[in-house]
Amino acid sequence: MSNNELIRYLVQKGYEWIVSQRNLYIVTAQELSEQDRTSLQPYFEPKILGLAKRELVDYIENPPFYPEVMKLGIPNAIDFTQMAGITFIDCILISRRISHNQRSWTSLLFHEMVHVVQYYLLGAQRFAELYVIGWAQNGFDYGRIPLERQAYDLQRRFDQGGSVFSVVQLLNQQFGHVS
Ligand SMILES: [Zn+2]
Repeated sequence: MSNNELIRYLVQKGYEWIVSQRNLYIVTAQELSEQDRTSLQPYFEPKILGLAKRELVDYIENPPFYPEVMKLGIPNAIDFTQMAGITFIDCILISRRISHNQRSWTSLLFHEMVHVVQYYLLGAQRFAELYVIGWAQNGFDYGRIPLERQAYDLQRRFDQGGSVFSVVQLLNQQFGHVS
């Protein structure tokens, strides 16, 4: 399998996984609490906050196609089971493995909400493409995936508590969309 074929394969598998996980969890997921909305509303439009749902899970599962990924010789595949959260389109999963206080909980939700906005602006197919290509082009290093760096950068700004900003507007600019 050539590099391009491998990437196309992973994008397709990743996209299918995102959609199936979203459809599985959205059924029981809950709307964001009043308190969470209050913390996040300076940064996210009501429409976006209303869109997002969240669900607690014992841990984040690795994708079912992971054994195949390992066989392809990818050096350090992301271990999702160690992650605090993950977002599938408009559905945020939060792992019970990681304990939280109110501050770290809100910070995590903020990070995942940035992913909700990325999906909202890009669509799930394009999100999967950018995520996998960004991963492959940066040595399969999770910390260097541009969509993650975008989320971590804004999360840091949120944690620092400076002036507020609209995540949708910022991401629109960064994606080069005309709004
Ligand atoms: Zn993330």
